[in-house]
Amino acid sequence: MNGQFFISLLNPGIGLLFAIAFFLLWLNRRERYVAYAAGAYTASAIAFLIQDVGPVLPMELQRLPANLGFLATGVLFAAAIIKRYGLPIPWRAMAVTTAISISVFTWFLLVQPSIAARILSISIGAGLIAAMIVKSLWPIEKPYLIDRVLFWVAAISALNLIIRPIVLLSLVGGFDNYVGFQQSVYWTTVQFSQAMVSIIAAISLMVAVAIDQIAELRRQADDDNLSGLLNRRGFEAQAGAALRRCIDEHTPVALMIADLDHFKRVNDNHGHAVGDAIIAAFGAHVRAIGPADMIAGRIGGEEFALLVPGASIETARQLAEAVRTGLQAACADRIPARLCPTTSIGLAIGVPGTTLSALMQEADQALYEAKRTGRNRVRTFTPKPVRLAAGGS
Ligand code: GH3
Ligand code: MG
Ligand code: MG
Repeated sequence: MNGQFFISLLNPGIGLLFAIAFFLLWLNRRERYVAYAAGAYTASAIAFLIQDVGPVLPMELQRLPANLGFLATGVLFAAAIIKRYGLPIPWRAMAVTTAISISVFTWFLLVQPSIAARILSISIGAGLIAAMIVKSLWPIEKPYLIDRVLFWVAAISALNLIIRPIVLLSLVGGFDNYVGFQQSVYWTTVQFSQAMVSIIAAISLMVAVAIDQIAELRRQADDDNLSGLLNRRGFEAQAGAALRRCIDEHTPVALMIADLDHFKRVNDNHGHAVGDAIIAAFGAHVRAIGPADMIAGRIGGEEFALLVPGASIETARQLAEAVRTGLQAACADRIPARLCPTTSIGLAIGVPGTTLSALMQEADQALYEAKRTGRNRVRTFTPKPVRLAAGGS
């Protein structure tokens, strides 16, 4: 056994380890792109195994599946990265590239044997597949460092795969026989640079999986499943930030708190499931009619808060009225409309220097007024007039 043998174990070993790692991640996440990554590393491990340490098969039986495996690695890896962004995977272009590449390879294997031409056909084919990742990711925004890392891993792989064989073959010339090839500087370079690219790509993808998982957990922690709106925690975090932005930029901003009327009665008379259906309908209704930059949350059992950046008092009143009057119709496809309760809404307008908790207290006071004066109505907070001290001249 010589050093060459151990080097040849490098890529199957790395492939196998990462295949297992991505498979375990997939068991946890069930995300398609993670499955593609597991597939890519499995294909890579098998291909290198067949190529380097596999039993001595007839040439055709060994080299064809090995090189098909290399291309499959590229295809699955490209699918993994592109799928992470929810972009369409160019399956057809990748299949055509693979077919052409493997046909050219087969020609130079069986009809007109040439190791150099075979290397070029597979390496350039795989390089073109990597270039498809670059093409897919090129137009999209890359807000995080990991997005730029994945992009550059693909770009450098593409360049490496296309330029490396051309440069190295022009330096070392062709190969007379296969043993010479396997012990050549070229193949050692391929194995080594491929091992590096494999490790960097796998670590980048794993970081991406971890970041996606953290973002998902964070989203879940801020969401209210029943209404499809934010929960109190999520609302306070997002609305607080949006309110500060509006105040800093002198943009008008309105906050409304809506509370379903006599909701306890609905629950008591018709059951909790009907109550839940109404909460879900309210959430869907608010999302359907509110502006895109509105921040809406369920801040209590049957209490909702809506922060509307850019809304003047008139716009805010109109929206509050639309929320109030549209609820019956919104409930209708979930429960008999007659079971749907009315809504009381308190409205407050942001003024310079205000805070979210102050604004919420004002909206709450207005809501109390709406309840007190008969429910099923919108009330706007009006600051109490400042009393001038008596006895002045
Ligand atoms: P008011 O008009 O004064 O607001 O009367 P109300 O009955 O709506 O107010 P109250 O605070 O007395 O009761 C709120 C009820 O909301 C109590 C509880 O049964 C119900 N509730 C709170 N959270 C949920 C929930 O997640 N699902 C359902 N179905 N009901 C809930
Ligand atoms: Mg209520
Ligand atoms: Mg309430």
